[in-house]
Amino acid sequence: MLGRNQDRLTGLLTREGFIEFSRKFTGQDGQAVIWFNLDNFKMFNKRFGFTRGDEILKEIALILDGIFPRDENLLARFSDDNFVVLTNWISAEINIDTVQEYLYSLHEDVTLRLRAGIYFPSDDEDIRSAFDRAKLACDSIRKNHSVSSCMFHNGMSKELSLQQHILDNLDYAFKNELITVLYQPIVRLSTGKVCEAEALTRWNDPELGLISPAEFIPTLEQYREIHKLDIFAMKKVCHDYKTRNDNGLKLLPTSVNLSRLDFELCDIIQEIELAVTLNNIPREMLRIEITESINEEDMTVLNLGIEKLRTMGYQVWMDDFGSGYSSLNVLKDYNFDTIKFDMKFLRGFDVNKSKKAKYIISSNLEMARLMGMQALAEGVETEEQLRYLRSIGFDKVQGYYFGKPMKLDEIFALNIGVEEVHSS
Ligand code: C2E
Ligand code: MG
Ligand code: MG
Repeated sequence: MLGRNQDRLTGLLTREGFIEFSRKFTGQDGQAVIWFNLDNFKMFNKRFGFTRGDEILKEIALILDGIFPRDENLLARFSDDNFVVLTNWISAEINIDTVQEYLYSLHEDVTLRLRAGIYFPSDDEDIRSAFDRAKLACDSIRKNHSVSSCMFHNGMSKELSLQQHILDNLDYAFKNELITVLYQPIVRLSTGKVCEAEALTRWNDPELGLISPAEFIPTLEQYREIHKLDIFAMKKVCHDYKTRNDNGLKLLPTSVNLSRLDFELCDIIQEIELAVTLNNIPREMLRIEITESINEEDMTVLNLGIEKLRTMGYQVWMDDFGSGYSSLNVLKDYNFDTIKFDMKFLRGFDVNKSKKAKYIISSNLEMARLMGMQALAEGVETEEQLRYLRSIGFDKVQGYYFGKPMKLDEIFALNIGVEEVHSS
């Protein structure tokens, strides 16, 4: 067990070693593959340094070694903080908790969560497909902090093939216009007219039909490809704007969604500037939406990015305010021009019953006003919601009540009309 089969840091097997040695395990009854991954290991490294990060990885290897003896089990570190164990199923179920408890007890000063995904392969199953599935189970609880292990089930397999399809076909989808941009009207209540639009992407796949952004965006974020989509959408919006401008048609300020990851994955501001300059778009015609789910770890980069965009003359909007846990902190730490209130505020809203929802919406609106930010309510579907939002002082609203995302030209054909913009 030398060379490429052995992990230098921990002494466990590498991925290659694991695949090779797993052959001698085939045919044994009742096997289980466990995929372990540490939460926020990247952040841990940033905070405490790589030396301490390496120590943790070595400790995990030792713990695994103690609990799953090497003469009966296969132990590997695949990459970074990904550990894989091939064991028998009885041992798997009993021992996962022990591994986790051990690690916690060694590091009570920091929160270290070691997630585990479990898969029971069939007799002649390829080991690669087995550990992919264990990993999928492990990934599936990344955001669910109430559990620390999870068994693979078939629904995950479908998810895996959709993810694979998205990643394999992304470039093809851009080139062949499978990915398009639609626009949803934003209405100013004081004029009753459309004042802006939000650009939203769609993937119309010949094999799978329409794939919703709710499905492909998390995959693109997970595999760090999201900036490609956002640059594509930005270019398309600028191009659509220029086409109308060249034809002497009415124009509409437009907001584009960015992922906070874009600020790490590329020079997103330069990309925006490129698209804007090439198409001769005044900066005040673009708004940048960023969702509130901002991690502590990317605070500095993102904060600098937001400030730079604002100084350059772009409005920056906070999207989905109220949908996560950290809304108020994000408001405290970043400067936004507009806050978009998440549609969850309005879900199931009943003017006579939802007293609490009303208090929450109106006091948050007041807070936005005090901080000098504009407010916009998303997800307005009914006349009743609209009347209430107007009564407490919202001026901008967006939702199916006025129109679903549509082609840009269709917005200008809406009978409520579009505000005039004065732009060069
Ligand atoms: P979002 O930016 O909060 O956009 C609003 C979403 O709510 C859109 O879903 C829109 O179609 C939907 N919506 C609008 N009004 C109503 C309503 O009255 N009722 C209901 N039930 N839904 C309404 P969509 O287009 O599926 O987009 C989902 C999310 O995907 C967006 O949420 C945004 O975060 C993300 N997204 C879309 N396009 C892009 C993109 O190009 N880049 C990035 N980074 N994210 C994008
Ligand atoms: Mg948005
Ligand atoms: Mg939103």
